[in-house]
Amino acid sequence: AKSAGGNRFELADPEADARAITRHGLTTALPAALERGEFFIEYQPLVHLGDGRVHGAEALVRWLHPQHGVLGPDHFIPLAEHTGLIVPLGRWVLQEAVRQARFWHEQAEPGCSVPPLRINVNLSPTQLHHPGLVADTVDVLERSGLPPGALCLEVTESALIGADEDLLKPLRQLAEMGVDIALDDFGTGYSNLANLRRLPVRVLKLDRSFTRGMQQHPADPVDRKIVEGIVSLAHSLELAVTVEGVETGVQAEQLRELGCDTAQGWYYARPGPPDRLHTLSLADAV
Ligand code: C2E
Ligand code: CA
Ligand code: CA
Ligand code: CA
Repeated sequence: AKSAGGNRFELADPEADARAITRHGLTTALPAALERGEFFIEYQPLVHLGDGRVHGAEALVRWLHPQHGVLGPDHFIPLAEHTGLIVPLGRWVLQEAVRQARFWHEQAEPGCSVPPLRINVNLSPTQLHHPGLVADTVDVLERSGLPPGALCLEVTESALIGADEDLLKPLRQLAEMGVDIALDDFGTGYSNLANLRRLPVRVLKLDRSFTRGMQQHPADPVDRKIVEGIVSLAHSLELAVTVEGVETGVQAEQLRELGCDTAQGWYYARPGPPDRLHTLSLADAV
């Protein structure tokens, strides 16, 4: 791991690593890595575009590999999906992230004007199909004491394309308990927009490709129209819109103008350790 400024890790370059690391080696090392506690979570703030306040964070898993240093999820989540290890790994991420969020809640000063931070956790398709999803989530929430409303589970748009009721049922149950469901990487999956209505989803996370289109000011008029259309559709269905990959103030400003609700990206903060997030959220309260 290369230690970069502050307290965070710079993820290794996936292409350079691919040469050094065999898929096979990583795949066989995964179960022991989970047992040895080699995974850790970085938190990236979610910021309200309206007032610039941090209102939550997305949990992003990393692997501190004894030989290769810090590996980003693109190196091992697909392997964990393939072998099924994603179920226990995902359960660990959920448990750890919820525990962290509960800790932030406890730390929030009584009478403090900042609402407690919310936590977003990614779910992969295999987890979605796993029969224990609802029970595991209820269990994690109950043990931690975190209110279900403080948890948002992110599911990719592609995982829900053509989803039947059997697949949606656990998500509906979670939504009824108050857990928010976000549709991640939205706009990349060619889903039928009309289908959005039947999904138990509260948030659309616009894929980074849309944010990239907002780099110039003024942005390409067609790009603007597309984002405008998605935002207005989302709002008419009472869904909130989060944008990811915001790297510059120009992007943030244009996305705010287009009515996006929440943003995430390097412009605000890179993913980092949990204590830094708490400091950020308190800092913008003053
Ligand atoms: P994602 O859910 O779309 O997460 C956003 C990714 O964009 C993260 O990459 C984040 O570090 C990166 N990012 C954030 N801001 C910016 C920015 O301004 N510019 C750019 N270029 N990138 C930005 P990361 O951490 O490498 O994660 C990659 C993917 O791995 C995630 O994409 C998610 O699909 C998956 N993932 C991460 N953690 C978990 C997990 O606990 N469980 C599962 N199932 N998947 C996970
Ligand atoms: Ca995500
Ligand atoms: Ca995403
Ligand atoms: Ca993505």
